[in-house]
Amino acid sequence: MLIVMRHGATDQEVQRVVRVIEEMGYQARPMPGSQRTAVGLVGNDGRVDASRLEGLPGVQDVIHVSKPYKQVSREWKGEPTVVALPGGVAIGGVEVAVIAGPCSVESEKQIVEAARLVKDAGAVILRGGAFKPRSSPYSFQGLGRPALRLLAKAREETGLLICTEAMDAETVQWVAEMADIVQIGARNMQNYSLLKAAGRCGKPVLLKRGIAATITELLLSAEYVLAEGNHQVILCERGVRSFDTETRNLFDLTAIPVVHKLSHLPIIADPSHGTGLREKVIPMARAAVAAGADGIMVEVHPNPEAALSDGAQSLFPDQFAQLMREVRVIAEVIGRRVAEPASVGA
Ligand code: PEP
Ligand code: MN
Repeated sequence: MLIVMRHGATDQEVQRVVRVIEEMGYQARPMPGSQRTAVGLVGNDGRVDASRLEGLPGVQDVIHVSKPYKQVSREWKGEPTVVALPGGVAIGGVEVAVIAGPCSVESEKQIVEAARLVKDAGAVILRGGAFKPRSSPYSFQGLGRPALRLLAKAREETGLLICTEAMDAETVQWVAEMADIVQIGARNMQNYSLLKAAGRCGKPVLLKRGIAATITELLLSAEYVLAEGNHQVILCERGVRSFDTETRNLFDLTAIPVVHKLSHLPIIADPSHGTGLREKVIPMARAAVAAGADGIMVEVHPNPEAALSDGAQSLFPDQFAQLMREVRVIAEVIGRRVAEPASVGA
């Protein structure tokens, strides 16, 4: 439930609403907006007596949020959330941010080389998994905690921000201490203890859509993170399982405008996992930007043929440079621009 205050309502009137909500046994979340303040009532179990709030001084309206997810919905917050990152990078504003790098961190040489090449082509955030959720227990599982240090080194060398995956609630803090964005992977989208821990980790969270998750389920998972007080959430469409075997997943471009309608959170797209095939990544990256994605995440490897994971979908460096050139043009057509790397670093 959302209590919308009149334009010009005083601080005392807002505080009174907060007090009454708390007296009723619920949590209050004041949200100052550019036009007016709203106060969210969290935990409505259907027994809230709206008339008690409607009559308070300064209250204009009481809105029932019709969706099962509350704080992530557009009804709750009309203005888009812009996730502000260090160095002036933002996801959810006019700029389209490109996150690129290998599937896994494999060595210092590999990740620093990858960082340099994706930065030279125009990426602003480096990706690379330290902890890898692999379908087979015999596949490369990632270098683990030491890889976090290698990512920090790559950041020092290039000035790129770092996005990397946390696999469980026990180790999310290790990742959060180093990363600029904590990624929660598709397989963990409904790992509720991890979502809660990510909600308390103090860093922005990139939440990828589960392999067979509906958009409602994705938004409900994001709600877990917001419910813990972390509002810096970026969603990611990365393809869903389909009956068709021509591609690794069915890259659901429709999810981009659908999420923008239902939620104020930014959504980026990952055409690498979305297709699983290198040659399909560039056209689908172009399509994602055209569909309004707030960013794209792309796997790029200095030598994809030698990659320890996801080589078949990793771009060669020159392909990534081509992708960047093309998505810059597409972004402009829809009144946006691709974020450019800062001139810091090597
Ligand atoms: C990844 O980003 O490397 C990854 C494992 O992605 P997903 O969780 O989307 O499969
Ligand atoms: Mn991968």
